[in-house]
Parts: sequence; structure tokens; C-alpha cells
Amino acid sequence: MGLTVLSGPSGVGKGTIVAAVRRLHPEIWVSVSVTTRAPRPGETDGVEYHFVDAEEFAHMVKVGEFVEHAMFAGHAYGTPRRPLEERIAAGAPCLLEIELQGARQVRSALPDARFVFLAPPTWDELVRRLTGRGTEDGDVIRRRLDRARIELAAETEFDEVIVNDEVTTAAERLVRLMTSSSH
Ligand code: 5GP
Repeated sequence: MGLTVLSGPSGVGKGTIVAAVRRLHPEIWVSVSVTTRAPRPGETDGVEYHFVDAEEFAHMVKVGEFVEHAMFAGHAYGTPRRPLEERIAAGAPCLLEIELQGARQVRSALPDARFVFLAPPTWDELVRRLTGRGTEDGDVIRRRLDRARIELAAETEFDEVIVNDEVTTAAERLVRLMTSSSH
């Protein structure tokens, strides 16, 4: 099974690690999620996410287009089923970057996948990163911190833990796990 699921609290840097993996290892296929949240500055539809409205998302849920889907900080996120199944069938190394509820759904659906938790070096560092992004207002940050506390407690559910102390190092650790034969 060539599927790896990367999860971990918001603000821990999952997106940055995945961007580094894409840059350094283009042979690894990274799933593009669907979301109802608005694009942040610099995000492009079809690259970081497929951006849709709530109605379209609900339709996609109804017709079974998602492997998993979850609400996060007031918005819906989901992993499109068909491209992932095609890549797994082709034997490609596949990477999903999703939050905890979604990771649990994938574990039920595809128990042979490898589950990796990205942890912050410390809680204070996570708060600093979540506060410092500067793209969200106070209420959104509070909701994300509440959620981060819950997500941090789930670390023990995962097969592997990577501490995100330095981007390239953490990305290379992830790639090594993805290409090791233990799973
Ligand atoms: P952001 O809005 O910061 O890009 O993402 C918020 C959270 O949603 C992050 O924890 C991210 O990993 C998660 N996420 C992104 N795509 C998906 C998805 O397809 N499914 C699930 N369950 N979570 C996702």
C-alpha cells in the first residue's frame, strides 16, 4: 500500500512540509482536497485546493465523491476518491494531508495505509505559529487552538511521529518513511 496520511494540529506546518515534498520529490503524488473555505492570498484553485461552495460540497458528499470529509473551523474539507484510487492502483506513492477526523475515516476505509503525525517542537511554538500567520482573525485562531489541543492528544493513534523542527529535515524524514518497506 503506497498511501501515507499526514496529520497533526493546525499550524504545525503540514502544508509547508507537503510543499517541500512536492518540490523535492515530484515522484510523490499529493492529493488535492476540496474545501469550502476561501482561498488565502497566493493560493490557486486546483493547486492547494479545489475551492467550491457549500452547495457543491454537499452534492459531492451525496454522490460519494469523497474518501473522507470533515468540518474544520467552520469549513468543509474532503479528499476526492477517484484520483486517489487511480494512483493507489497504479502503485504510486500517495500522500494525503488531512486533519484528525479525516485520518480516522481513512484508517477505517484503508487500514493498510501509513499514518504519520506531524508534531510541533513545543506547544508554545505551535501557538506562536498559529498566531503569527496573520491571515486569520482572533476568533478563528481561538477555534484552531482549541482544535489543536484535541489533535495533539491523538498522537498515540499514529504509526509514526515526526517533529517539525526544520522543514527540509522533516520533509526528508517523511519521504524516507513513505519509501521504506515496513508498511
Ligand atoms: P487549512 O484551511 O489551514 O488549509 O486547513 C485546515 C485543516 O484542514 C488542516 O488541518 C488540513 O490538514 C485539513 N485538511 C485539508 N484538506 C483536508 C481534507 O481533504 N480532509 C480533511 N479531513 N482535512 C483536510
